[in-house]
Amino acid sequence: MTDEPQTPTSGLLEVGDADAARVRRAAFTRLLATAAPVPAAMLATEVGLTEGQVEAELSRLAASGAISRDDSGAVVAAGGLSVTPARHQLLLDGHEYWTWCAFDGIGIPAALELDAVVDTRCPTCGGGLRITITGGNPPSDSPVVGWLPGGPCINVQADFCPDAKLFCTDAHLATWRQTTGDPPGTAAPPGELAETGRQVWADLARLPRQPDASVGN
Ligand SMILES: [Zn+2]
Repeated sequence: MTDEPQTPTSGLLEVGDADAARVRRAAFTRLLATAAPVPAAMLATEVGLTEGQVEAELSRLAASGAISRDDSGAVVAAGGLSVTPARHQLLLDGHEYWTWCAFDGIGIPAALELDAVVDTRCPTCGGGLRITITGGNPPSDSPVVGWLPGGPCINVQADFCPDAKLFCTDAHLATWRQTTGDPPGTAAPPGELAETGRQVWADLARLPRQPDASVGN
């Protein structure tokens, strides 16, 4: 465990303790099911904690960027999936979402094996980019290339997501790297982002969509 290689995305969505992990997973599952904000009280019922305990876990998760909340305290985003406008648009299984990173837009449908359409913009030329994902698989012949930032990551939304972008082409990624002082990170085509996403979201992807899946853990 401790000699796990330092890849840009290793541990990206890991959170503190078991209760925090359950609260985050319940929030992600509910956001996916309803595409609407999730009140804290609903999560308390779902994970079998008191509202006070859920409140404490939500505060901690929000402080690390693992979730976002609205003014009423309801969860509006978890694990990169947002029901309020964020940088990138994601049509997932017929519901409209937004994501924190362009990587989320490919990684989440990949982990869930769902159809999706990601809409974002190339940071270099400002051109619109649309990736159509079928059953979790992005097109294999796309010239689009993603960037996985490699710097230190304390708060995923603040430290990782802003630069986890998609570019029209390798050339536009190269231009961006030059003009931003060659930040640490890794280039990855859509298929590789999907593969990495399957690992990053493996835990969150065990959802009620798979009613036969065992509940151990
Ligand atoms: Zn471009």
